[in-house]
Amino acid sequence: MLEGIRSGNRVVLGQAITLIESKKPEHQTTARELVEACLPYSGQAFRIGITGTPGVGKSTFVEALGNLILNQQKKIAVLAIDPSSQKSHGSILGDKTRMNSLSAKANAFIRPSPAGEALGGVARQSRETIILCEAAGYDYILIETVGVGQSEVAVHSMTDFFLLLLLPGAGDELQGIKRGIVEMADLIAVNKADGERLKLAESARRAYRNALHLLPPQESGWVPPVHSCSAIEGTGMEEIWTTVLDYAHQTRQNGFFEEKRRRQAAYWLDETLQNSWRQLFLEDTEMKAAWEHVRQQVITQTWSPFKGAAWLMDLFAQKHKL
Ligand code: GDP
Repeated sequence: MLEGIRSGNRVVLGQAITLIESKKPEHQTTARELVEACLPYSGQAFRIGITGTPGVGKSTFVEALGNLILNQQKKIAVLAIDPSSQKSHGSILGDKTRMNSLSAKANAFIRPSPAGEALGGVARQSRETIILCEAAGYDYILIETVGVGQSEVAVHSMTDFFLLLLLPGAGDELQGIKRGIVEMADLIAVNKADGERLKLAESARRAYRNALHLLPPQESGWVPPVHSCSAIEGTGMEEIWTTVLDYAHQTRQNGFFEEKRRRQAAYWLDETLQNSWRQLFLEDTEMKAAWEHVRQQVITQTWSPFKGAAWLMDLFAQKHKL
């Protein structure tokens, strides 16, 4: 499989990702080995996260940007993070009619979000999928996510650049978008700047730009710009792409790029370990029952959360003779 992936075989790459997504222990063992084997060939791509509320035009935007990148003789992989636990408009990228023009291209690889997964699971799988795609030689990895929950945090923590799509809204411009997400953005693009909405988009762009000035400056030294674009008509897309490349250049020069990757690697170690611990607890039926019991004590304020956690840890230590 490693050979297949390295030689750019998209069928093998797809099969490998299916292994990563599998719940079967033997598949997971193989998948882990494969990820480790791909690791030395990974890390070269530039990873871009794209978020925005349902209907803002993410798929259309990804398709337009993807085609622009392909025209520069680069390879792109498009992944999606859409945890099933969140109420979205259905699985993103799941709809086969979407991204037609991209999926037909030899230098593009498109992978929808796995169905029926919670955020923790999809996030881990996406991280591993990035490694496989990079070993397969994709230059840019675009990761699309719905902007309605915690998934942006996960995507932000696995990408080099984070792009927030907004609508040309009237009134309170930042309404409905959590401040935290705006703070994570390296670029804001007001989409659907076409037809009757052109004027509205321009005033929205100015309002967002003013709002961004109120935020603390980014550690990277980068000042997130606000663009407007029309993913459907393709206007503004070139400017956005140039900005992304500027960012890549600037942060590679000042060392922030590597620093961010190092932090992300540490973050994912911690996240994975926490999830593994949790898994260990939950797989043990006695521990699971004890957890439920303690939770009730905590909810009814009979116990403090700290006493509850300490009690569970003691029980776990006793059982495993730690
Ligand atoms: P997503 O839910 O964020 O992935 O949004 P989609 O890409 O599915 O787009 C939602 C709707 O907005 C579709 O009907 C698109 O055709 C439309 N749309 C997307 N981008 C633009 C744009 O730039 N201008 C206009 N007018 N419509 C757009």
